Amino acid sequence: MTHTVRSTCCYCGVGCGVLIHTDGERIVGIDGDPAHPANFGRLCTKGRTLPLTTGDAGRVLAPMLRDGRDDARQPVSWQTAIATAADRFAAVIREHGPDAVAFYLSGQLLTEDYYVFNKLAKGLIGTANVDTNSRLCMSSAVSAYKLAFGADGPPTCYDDLEAADLVLFAGSNAAFAHPILFRRLEEARAARPGVKWIAIDPRRTDTAAMADLHLAIQPGTDVALFNGMLHHLIWEGRLDFDLIGLHSEGFDALKNEVRAYPPHRAAEICGIDEADLVTAADWFGDAKAALSLYCMGLNQSSHGTDKNLALINLHLATGQIGKPGAGPFSLTGQPNAMGGREVGGMATMLASHRDLANAAHRDELSALWGVPAERLPARPGLTAVELFDALEAGTVKAVWIACTNPAHSMPDLNKVRAALTKAEFVVLQEAFADTDTAPFADLLLPASSWGEKEGVVTNSERRISRVRAAVKAPGEARADWRIARDFAQALQARLAPSEPALFDFDSPEAVFVEYRATTVGRDIDIGGVSYALLEAAPQQWPLPAGEKLGRARLYTDRVFNTESGRACFHAVPYLPVAEAPNARYPFRLLSGRLRDQWHGMSRSGRVPQLFEHAAEARLGMNPGDMARRGLADGDLVAVASRRGALVLPVEAAAGTPSGSLFLPMHWNGQFLQDAGVNLMTSPARCDKSAQPELKHAAVKLVKL
Ligand code: SF4
Repeated sequence: MTHTVRSTCCYCGVGCGVLIHTDGERIVGIDGDPAHPANFGRLCTKGRTLPLTTGDAGRVLAPMLRDGRDDARQPVSWQTAIATAADRFAAVIREHGPDAVAFYLSGQLLTEDYYVFNKLAKGLIGTANVDTNSRLCMSSAVSAYKLAFGADGPPTCYDDLEAADLVLFAGSNAAFAHPILFRRLEEARAARPGVKWIAIDPRRTDTAAMADLHLAIQPGTDVALFNGMLHHLIWEGRLDFDLIGLHSEGFDALKNEVRAYPPHRAAEICGIDEADLVTAADWFGDAKAALSLYCMGLNQSSHGTDKNLALINLHLATGQIGKPGAGPFSLTGQPNAMGGREVGGMATMLASHRDLANAAHRDELSALWGVPAERLPARPGLTAVELFDALEAGTVKAVWIACTNPAHSMPDLNKVRAALTKAEFVVLQEAFADTDTAPFADLLLPASSWGEKEGVVTNSERRISRVRAAVKAPGEARADWRIARDFAQALQARLAPSEPALFDFDSPEAVFVEYRATTVGRDIDIGGVSYALLEAAPQQWPLPAGEKLGRARLYTDRVFNTESGRACFHAVPYLPVAEAPNARYPFRLLSGRLRDQWHGMSRSGRVPQLFEHAAEARLGMNPGDMARRGLADGDLVAVASRRGALVLPVEAAAGTPSGSLFLPMHWNGQFLQDAGVNLMTSPARCDKSAQPELKHAAVKLVKL
């Protein structure tokens, strides 16, 4: 007999609701949840094939420990595994201090998992060295929201997809990366033919090909484009003077900055026609409701925060925010990048949008947690790239990695792999046994996975949904929150045995209840949310106690979360990419997504059907560039940056501009010479968000 469990897809930030069908032991089918407001029953190819990724095959089934780097890992009991980890971490902390250990987490963890890890690092150990792969994904959006609005969080909701009459895709191939949202947009345009789409992307992606206007800008020139559009709108006086005059600050400095970007100059920097830039500005200025959807093309940049801010400037100056169909809407890549931000699971923040540098915030949290205020770190910890640099330098000795694959996803992989080799002790908490990071683990812990664990996630529109277990985890795999709790309890017994127990959680719901208490009174207040409420329907935050529904849109009253209550314009100049092409490295290597694969393929790479769209790793190249170099489809080429090289077949990709190459981010060590695109990518990062420039590197190419 089959039964059905309601849950959430574990792939992308759309956060589709799913109905998991089981025979009591195995997951045997899946459907979209018709009642979930993200997808109304739909699923994309990845979501539909999720059952094929479940079961024992390829899983870590027991804790595995090795004594020395040259030894093979051997199965050990959970008790031995946790005690060994606690002994090793406690010894490092006693000898070298709290900042000699670090945690590297994942936007695929559930909110409860994240919360326990973050409290463990900041509340027990007293280090802010807890960062996450969300640093590679959303940190520029976070920085910009905080700088412009005073708090992190998209001001928009999915209903805006249908209400917008101008949709601007900025560095987002939503047709591939957020397919269910893209279907909603397609239907909205079909229903209202006056709706216009603009796509800003160096490549002619599927999204760009379907846009009414494609601005194929030179990589990294987004700020010049947005400043040029704003220059035109200021010149024409098509501004929201109420918002500028009464609800914002900093406009005069911005106006002064964008004087330097008349459309002809901005278009020249971007490598597009001036007329197209002006058309884009006119459409934006004329729109009743303009919605910007943006993603890694803005975020994964050495000036990612500036790109976000320049786009937000456009929205504020024209009043395109806080009303149906309008606003800057960052689409999260991972299923719970939002939840990680909410609990403060990053090196640059505290729980519930509190700041490390704010003594009052530290006092609030220390009181909530019952720990000494002076233990909470007052300065940011090591962000992702810094964390692995510190491992290589030897200042961080022990690292705990959970639910992510940095030996594939970090930039400059050779350096990251050298760092993991040099580390004194590496713990990896992971569901799959064969990830690129697994060989570096001294202690490999079996984690439960999708369909086997309970908790909540928050999707791109601030909506919290339940994730539910439908079957038992295989072997000895355990839920991530429970592994973190057991380790935290063992570590507290060694470091602070006389303090009241900090990790007395007996269920994920108990973790959620404690997390919820930290949000009360904050911009993210979910005092009115409970597991029971979420059983009935997913909810958007904020939803304080006493209210019945969460807030669909933020800033509808034009009161922002800054001290003054005003939004902040930021005058941002255009700055070039970190690594410009030159005679030695003449090509621009761009990275991005395939339609049917997900991140490093540790899950989607197990499904044969998902290779029908792209069967193998190929380097996309402009057909004219191929002809000039005497290259044909399938020819092998060596492509190399200053940091690493790959050999792979080349293929004609008409949408790739001359001078650029395109390689999908997904192909991992099983599919591409024990490596992937990040062998070549640059660790250069945004000075405000610390997000690395994974989207662009200068490379050379040789025909073999
Ligand atoms: Fe899953 Fe994203 Fe596809 Fe929805 S759009 S089914 S969340 S991968």
